[in-house]
Amino acid sequence: MTTAGLVGAGRMGSALARAIRSAGFDLVVWNRSPEPARRLADELGAIAVARPADVAARADVVVSMLADGAAVDAVYGADDGLVAGARPGTVLVDCSTVSPATLRGHAEAIGAIGAGVLDAPVSGSVSLAEAGKLTLMIGGEAADLERARPVLSAFGATIFHLGPLGTGAAMKLAVNTVIFGLNQALAEAIVLAETAGIDRTAAYDVLAASAVSAPFVGYKRAAFLEPEATPVAFALDLAAKDLRLIGELAGGLGLELPQAAIDLAVIEAAAAAGDGGRDFASVAGYLSERRHR
Ligand code: NAP
Repeated sequence: MTTAGLVGAGRMGSALARAIRSAGFDLVVWNRSPEPARRLADELGAIAVARPADVAARADVVVSMLADGAAVDAVYGADDGLVAGARPGTVLVDCSTVSPATLRGHAEAIGAIGAGVLDAPVSGSVSLAEAGKLTLMIGGEAADLERARPVLSAFGATIFHLGPLGTGAAMKLAVNTVIFGLNQALAEAIVLAETAGIDRTAAYDVLAASAVSAPFVGYKRAAFLEPEATPVAFALDLAAKDLRLIGELAGGLGLELPQAAIDLAVIEAAAAAGDGGRDFASVAGYLSERRHR
């Protein structure tokens, strides 16, 4: 039986862990701060270990879900990191949203061990992860994907293999270019309607039933209508991180993406005006408050 590993017990990592355990895999967990890993292990009947290397040594397929590229570099490359613990045949699968260059930087060391590596960023948030309904964008070798597929299928309903290592990361940044455009457009539409005298919920109902309805409009409903009562699904600070990655990738390819640049400026301003830990739907509140200044 395949043993799975999960590294990074944050919002998304914990959701992936729940889906992996629900699918019946044995699970080994590590998190930088030990408490979330211990809590998750207690909740799921998984094993919490002290170092990322211990996860790679015990698991056949290791899923990492970390904040950013610096975290991935630290967890993969440290002396007690994933690469140090991997064995021939282990498949390391990084689901974090990072630059296409991040995992490529570890590929040689992983290949030298005879282990495999995939970038597998996800589209969809916490609730879709727990329901096993994420969309996965994979870069890497087809054989590694086939070895990892049973574990990935626990949280991914749709799996696209896009090409060599890094293509999953690039595709994820392309998807998020649209997500941030939608978030900004939705925020502007709601603030415009509400300020023009239309009830916020009624405005949202119309948008959700109109030509602009999209799954994103459906699942962000509570975040836009009851921001204080709704758990954070995706923080402003992480959204700014993604938009900077989008700008860097575009710049390196000689492209200008004007809408993404505006989305970044507004998200950075909303984070600076309050708390970058709030959900990125709070851009609506930021735009609404600005009117009164
Ligand atoms: P989160 O709740 O803030 O979790 C971040 C995780 O990264 C935590 O486990 C944290 O450990 C760990 N971490 C941060 N810096 C680290 C470092 N230097 N070394 C080791 N571990 C480190 O974030 P999240 O919302 O789960 O997002 C995780 C990733 O998924 C991000 O790349 C995000 O862009 C992507 N993503 C998120 C969503 C979403 O809806 N939330 C959807 C799709 C993709 P500690 O507990 O020790 O801080």
